[in-house]
Amino acid sequence: MNHTRGPLDIAVVGGGICGLTTAIALEQRGFEPTVYEAASDYRPVGAGILLQANALLVFDRLGIVDRVRAAGQPLEDVQLRSPSGRILSRFDLDGVERSEFGYGAVAIYRPDLQRILLDELNTAVETGTACEGVDATETPTVRFDDGTRVRPDVVVGADGIHSTVRDAIVPAVELRTLDSVAYRAIAEIDLPPAHRALGFEVWGDGTYAGGAPIGDDRFYWFATTPGRQAETATAAPDQLSALRDRLVDYSDPIPTVVDSLEPDDVVVTALEDVPPLERWSRGSVVLAGDAAHGMYPFAGQGAAQAIEDALALAHSIAAREDPSAAIDAYVAERKPRAERIRSESHRLGTLGTIRSTVGCRLRNLAFDCCPDAVIRRARRTRIAGTSLPATPVADRVTGDCTVRRS
Ligand SMILES: Cc1cc2nc3c(=O)[nH]c(=O)nc-3n(C[C@H](O)[C@H](O)[C@H](O)COP(=O)(O)OP(=O)(O)OC[C@H]3O[C@@H](n4cnc5c(N)ncnc54)[C@H](O)[C@@H]3O)c2cc1C
Repeated sequence: MNHTRGPLDIAVVGGGICGLTTAIALEQRGFEPTVYEAASDYRPVGAGILLQANALLVFDRLGIVDRVRAAGQPLEDVQLRSPSGRILSRFDLDGVERSEFGYGAVAIYRPDLQRILLDELNTAVETGTACEGVDATETPTVRFDDGTRVRPDVVVGADGIHSTVRDAIVPAVELRTLDSVAYRAIAEIDLPPAHRALGFEVWGDGTYAGGAPIGDDRFYWFATTPGRQAETATAAPDQLSALRDRLVDYSDPIPTVVDSLEPDDVVVTALEDVPPLERWSRGSVVLAGDAAHGMYPFAGQGAAQAIEDALALAHSIAAREDPSAAIDAYVAERKPRAERIRSESHRLGTLGTIRSTVGCRLRNLAFDCCPDAVIRRARRTRIAGTSLPATPVADRVTGDCTVRRS
């Protein structure tokens, strides 16, 4: 590794979407970060994910957008619908977002995204190394559950919404909850042609459901229903049959999808978000992704914001001599934007989990009456503020950094 400032030892705690993307962006700027991941191996879990244009713009800068688009399903449109199938609003991704940003959105199987990110990384992830705590002293110490410790120059806490690293920055953060549970699965079904490049969200009574094709007659389906903290990682048989009852009258393909699933196919997650944090860093320990701003999934922006963090942080570290100054600049850039989008997701979550029938009718009437242009503007604003370094990686990394690509 060549870097004129001398090697900076960077530990990335958490090898999820944020940690892996951060490590790739750092490697492309000449650093050799180490990623510590608690899971003992990468298993194909987690259903699908919708990557909006701002995530794709970052992947474009990292040189992997074509692989992501080829592995997933680029969407031409996303619709908001009532349970009966009435279209309340359309985003018209092909007509609006692709023409303005160059990309619409991609629905992708999460393990495929993970595989692309792992392939792009030059170093192997240290799996089976769970961080137990971090001491945010001048040279921070990361403690692992096997008793080992490392003392890197910079610690990036990309360890998700239940972050351990966060305790070294803001102790004992209490997550907020909507008292709802999210269900996600991949169904193998024969999709009608109208659904091959179409994503949709259905706003029902206390139930929010939707999905998108992810290619090869596979469909990524999700739903949220009232409920308490998930006790198991996959659905119990009675949970799945309760879901079938709730969704039986929803327009197709939802009932067909849910009928095709077995309980073990359905990933269950509690809906939680991170409250506004007083700070994202302490010394050279810094948060990124869900650890900093985990949000409800209703704006479909959690991973996109984590991906934006990754590039912004790597860029800031590469652009400054002093890691603390780099971290301060990253936090100043990213915290207001990510927390604004987290607040929007919170408001949408409150709307999406309304339980009274009258309240739901009024909400859907409001969506129906609201011009599409207004709903698109809200989505466009989320995308348009994307944190992208002024110039692409290939132009930036001259002189003081060496780009290493496999
Ligand atoms: C139901 C649902 C649907 C969603 N849909 C979308 C969507 O369509 N689009 C979108 O953009 N976002 C979506 N999101 C949000 C998205 O999943 C997250 O924002 C994203 O996964 C955050 O990535 P991350 O890397 O920060 O955290 P994570 O994905 O949680 O990764 C954290 C990693 O850290 C590891 N880890 C945890 N603790 C430790 C430790 N102590 N030591 C070491 N490693 C540790 C974990 O094993 C994991 O690999 C959705 C979320 C939910 C709940």
